Amino acid sequence: MKKTFVTLEQLERIAAQYPTPFHLYHESGIRQTARELYRAFSWNPGYREYFAVKATPNPQILKLLKEEGCGVDCSSLTELMMAQRCGFSGDEIMFSSNDTPAEEFVLAAQLGATINLDDISHIPFLKDSIGYIPKKISCRYNPGGTFTLGESEEGFQVMDNPGQAKYGMTRAQLTQAFRTLKELGAEEFGIHAFLASNTLSNEYYPALAAILFRTAVELTEETGCHITFINLSGGVGVPYRPEQPANDIGLIGEGVRKAYEEILVPAGMGDVSLCTELGRFMLAPHGCLVTRVLHEKKTYKDYIGVDACAANLMRPAMYGAYHHITVMGRENEPCDHLYDVTGSLCENNDKFAVDRLLPEIHIGDLLVIHDTGAHGHAMGYQYNGRLRSSELLLQSDGSVRLIRRAETPEDYFATAVWD
Ligand SMILES: *Cc1c(COP(=O)(O)O)cnc(C)c1O
Repeated sequence: MKKTFVTLEQLERIAAQYPTPFHLYHESGIRQTARELYRAFSWNPGYREYFAVKATPNPQILKLLKEEGCGVDCSSLTELMMAQRCGFSGDEIMFSSNDTPAEEFVLAAQLGATINLDDISHIPFLKDSIGYIPKKISCRYNPGGTFTLGESEEGFQVMDNPGQAKYGMTRAQLTQAFRTLKELGAEEFGIHAFLASNTLSNEYYPALAAILFRTAVELTEETGCHITFINLSGGVGVPYRPEQPANDIGLIGEGVRKAYEEILVPAGMGDVSLCTELGRFMLAPHGCLVTRVLHEKKTYKDYIGVDACAANLMRPAMYGAYHHITVMGRENEPCDHLYDVTGSLCENNDKFAVDRLLPEIHIGDLLVIHDTGAHGHAMGYQYNGRLRSSELLLQSDGSVRLIRRAETPEDYFATAVWD
C-alpha cells in the first residue's frame, strides 16, 4: 500500500485555507532523498547533483535543494533566469539543452554555467553566439541502438531506444568535437548521456557509468583532452505502482563506484568528478495532487469527477502513466468499486485512472494522487481555461507555506489583446 505523507485531518485543514486542487510537496522527504543521494556518492569528492529544473520549476523547491548542496540543470532561457534569481551561479549550473537558441548560450555563458553541447554543429554556433569557446565544456553522447538491462522471462528491466532519440552526438562526432573544442581553447572536458527514462533498476546508473567511463578513457587517449567531469544525467526512476520495488540509491552509488574503480582509476583518471541531473528521483514521491470529488456519474461506466484535470497533471493523459490514488479516510476499506476518475476537460483522455479498483467514493471526498512532485505542476497548461493550481509546501515543522498561488482568470487574460 502506498502511504500519503499527510493525514485527512491535515488535508482538510489545508484545504480550508487553500482551495483544491493543489500540488503539495513534502520538505522533509525532499531533504531526506537529497541526503541519501549525497551519501551514496560521498566516495567521489567532486560529486554534485544538478536538479533538473524542468521537473519542478519552483524557486522555493530549488532553494531548498540548494541548501542540501544541489546545483541546477537548466535547459531553457527561463530556467536559467529562474536559477539566477534563486542565487545559483557558475559551477552550480549545468546547461543541458538541445536545439538551443543563441540567446540561451549567451545567458548560460554570462552566468558561468557549464555548457553541455548536444550536437557537433553547436560548436561553431556557440562560438558565433558568445564569441569564444568556454574553458570548461561538456558534450552529450548518444551511443545509438537500443539500451537494455536485466533480461528475464518477464522481459527487460530497462529498455529504451537511444537510436531513436534526438539527443546527443555519435561516438565518432564526440572525438571530432573534443579535438575541435581543444583547438578552440577548451581545457576541461566532460561527457554526458541520458539513455533511459524512469528506470526501476539499481543497474542503470552503473551500466551507463561503465559506458561513459570507457568512452572517457578512449577519448583521453585519442584526443589528449583533460576530462574532469562525467555527467550521468537523469533517468533513475520511482515506483509509481504500489507493487513496484523502489531503487536503492546506496546500491546504485556502490555500483557506480565499482565501475569507477575498475575503469577510471587504472587509467589514471581517479580524479574525475561525477555529476547527476536527477529530477524525478528527487521530487516525484515528495509531491501529490490533492483534489476533491465533485460528481459521480453512472452511464456505461462509473465515473468519479474531480476538481483537478489533465491541465494540472498531464502524465496520465499524455503517456497513460499510472498514478496511484488514495481516497482519504477510506484507506482501510476494500477496493471493490471499479471507477474512471476524470477531470473536466473536453478531451476524453482527461482521466487520472481508468478501470481502477478503489474504495467506494462519496461526493466531497478528498483524493490524493501520488507521485506528482516531478513533471506534475511543471507540465501544466491552461486548455479549456482550466488554470494552473497553487503549489504548497508542507514544511518540516508541520506548517504549510504557499509557494505558488493558483492562476486567476486575470492571469489568463493578461496576454491577450482585447481591443
Ligand atoms: C529531463 C532531463 C533530466 C531529468 O530527468 P529525470 O528522468 O527527471 O531524472 C536530466 N537531464 C536532462 C538533460 C533532461 O532532459
